[in-house]
Amino acid sequence: MEILRKSHREAQAAVLHDYPSVCAGFSWETARGWLDGLPGGGLNIAHEAVDRHAAGAAGERIAIRWLGKSGTRREIRYRELAELSSRFANVLETLGVARGAGVYLLAGRIPELYLAVLGALKQGAVVTPLFSAFGPDPIATRMTLGEGRVLVTTTSLYRRKVAPIRDRLPSLEHVLVIRDDDVEVLPEGTRELGPLLEAASPDYVIPATAPETPALLHFTSGTTGTPKGALHVHQAVVAHHSTARFALDLRAGDIFWCTADPGWVTGTSYGIIAPLSLGATLVIDEAEFEAERWYRILDEEAVSVWYTAPTAVRMMMKGGSERARTRAYPSLRFIASVGEPLNPQAVHWGVEAFGLPIHDNWWQTETGGIMIANFASMDIRPGAMGKPLPGIEAAVLRRLPDGGVERVAHHDEEGELALRVGWPSMFRTYLHEEERYRRCFVGDWYLTGDLARRDPEGYFWFVGRADDMIKSAGHLIGPFEVESALMEHPAVAEVGVIGKPDPVIGEIVKAFVSLKPGHAPDEALRRELLGFARQRLGPAVAPKEIEIQTSLPRTRSGKIMRRLLKARELGLPEGDTSTLETSR
Ligand code: ATP
Ligand code: MG
Repeated sequence: MEILRKSHREAQAAVLHDYPSVCAGFSWETARGWLDGLPGGGLNIAHEAVDRHAAGAAGERIAIRWLGKSGTRREIRYRELAELSSRFANVLETLGVARGAGVYLLAGRIPELYLAVLGALKQGAVVTPLFSAFGPDPIATRMTLGEGRVLVTTTSLYRRKVAPIRDRLPSLEHVLVIRDDDVEVLPEGTRELGPLLEAASPDYVIPATAPETPALLHFTSGTTGTPKGALHVHQAVVAHHSTARFALDLRAGDIFWCTADPGWVTGTSYGIIAPLSLGATLVIDEAEFEAERWYRILDEEAVSVWYTAPTAVRMMMKGGSERARTRAYPSLRFIASVGEPLNPQAVHWGVEAFGLPIHDNWWQTETGGIMIANFASMDIRPGAMGKPLPGIEAAVLRRLPDGGVERVAHHDEEGELALRVGWPSMFRTYLHEEERYRRCFVGDWYLTGDLARRDPEGYFWFVGRADDMIKSAGHLIGPFEVESALMEHPAVAEVGVIGKPDPVIGEIVKAFVSLKPGHAPDEALRRELLGFARQRLGPAVAPKEIEIQTSLPRTRSGKIMRRLLKARELGLPEGDTSTLETSR
C-alpha cells in the first residue's frame, strides 16, 4: 500500500500535534477549557469567535481580509468585527426580534454577511446563510422550513429572487438590504442595513445563551435527495475550535483560506467560526472560482492554511501543475479538502503543484465539524479519509436482521460508517422531520449513510454512499473505486459512476466522464477508457459503458450528483434539483 511520508515542511507542522498523544490526552471538557465561556456563564459561538479576541493588542489583529470581485480590499480587525457584529445584534433588538427567531442571509461573500452571521449568533437567533445563487423556490422552501423572521440580503437579490415569493413567506417580518444596484428607491417592504448599523450602539451584552441553545440551521447539499435542515447548537463551537486545531493544523496568526461559501456548513463552521475562534485571519474571496486568481491569492495573500474541495482541485488539475508552479507559495503549510472523495491522483497533484500533499477529511452537515482526517502529523495514505479526531469514535458497522448493528468482523470489510454519539457539534434534529432524525440512530451509534472500511492501521477508506452502491453480478461495487481508477487516465477531468439496471446481472457499471482540454470526445478515446478501466479494475468491476459528456451535473457545493446521472440515464423524473449548479 502506498504511503506518503511527510515532507520537511509538514514535519515541522506535525511536531505540534502528534496523533496518539493528542488522542490520549483529549476530552471534550479539556477542549471546552480552550474556550472562555460568557463572562456571566453560558456559551456563545460569536463570543468565542470574536469578542474574546477584541480587547488589547489581540483586537488589532486582522480578523477578515476581504478580496472584492473588482479588486477592492477591505481589512477588518477583531476589535472592529466585535463592534460591527454587536451593532447588528442591537439592530435585531431594536426591531424586537425574539431570541430563537430564524435569521436568514442571502448574499454573496460580502463583509455584511459575516458581521450579520456573528451578530445574529450573539443575539441568540437561529442563523441560516443561504447560497446566493439559489432561485426563488429553493429560497422559499428553506425559509418556510425554518420560519425565517429576518432576511438580510442585497437590493438586487431581493428584487430578483425574494420579491416574487414574498407573499409565500408569511413569517418574514423584516428584510434588511445592502444596496448593490443603481436603483434609488429601496424595494418596498425593506430597510437599508447600513444606516441601521450606524445608528446602533457598538456595545452589546450577549444574553446568556446556553451550550444547548440552537444557533445554526444548515441545509444538506441535496446530493441524494431533498435537502434536510440540520439544527446545531452553540456548543458546536467547542468542536469547531478543536477540530480546526487538529485536522487543519490551524493556529493563531495563520492566514487561512476556506474556499467554501457560507451557504454550506463548511463555509460557516470553517469559513467563519473555527478560524476566528483560534485568532487566525480569514481570507474571503468574493469572486467565483478561477484557477489563475486562486493561485494568485494563495501566493500573494501569503495563505498558510488552505481548506478546499475536490471539485476545485479537479478544476485546477485540468490546467496542469505547470500553471501552479509559476508561483512559490512560501507561506503555505497545510492543505486540506472535504466534500467528496479525494482521488489519490489529487493528493499527488498537491505535491507536484505546491510541494504539499492534500489532506483529505470527512464529515457531513449533520456532524457539524470534521470527524475523520489525515492529520498533519500522520503519514498520508492517498485515497484514505484518515483517522477519527480526538473525542470521536468511528466504526464500520453492519446491520443485523433484528434492527441492531454490530462491528464488521474483519479489517477492510465494508460496512456503514458510524459515529458514537456525544460530540458537541452533532446535529440536534432535522427540523420538522423528527422521524427521519430518529432513523439515523441505532443504540448510541449515529449511522452516516456512507459506506467505508477501516484498514489494520486504523485509516478509514470511503467506499460510497449507501444509495450509490452498485450491485453487479453478485458484487457490491463502490463508485469511488471505479472513479479513482478512471481519474488516473491523463485525458479524464471528472468521473461519475452509476449502476444501470440490467436484466441479467442486476446492474451494470456505467461511467460518465468529462475530459481535460485538448482531448476529443471520440470513439477511439471512449474505447481506450474502457480498456484502461478494465485493465486496472478487472472485468467484474470495470464499467461496461462509458459516456463522455462536456460536464457532469453537480451540486452548488461541488458534489457530482450521481442520482441525477442515473435519473437522466433511465428517463426518470429528476427529483429535487434545487441545489443543482446551473452555471459554470
Ligand atoms: P444530502 O445529504 O442532502 O444528500 P450531502 O450528503 O452531499 O447531501 P453534505 O452534508 O454537504 O450533504 O455532505 C456530506 C457527504 O459528503 C458525506 O456523507 C459524504 O458522502 C460526502 N463526503 C464528504 N467528505 C468526504 C470525503 N472526504 N470523502 C468522501 N466523501 C465525502
Ligand atoms: Mg448527506
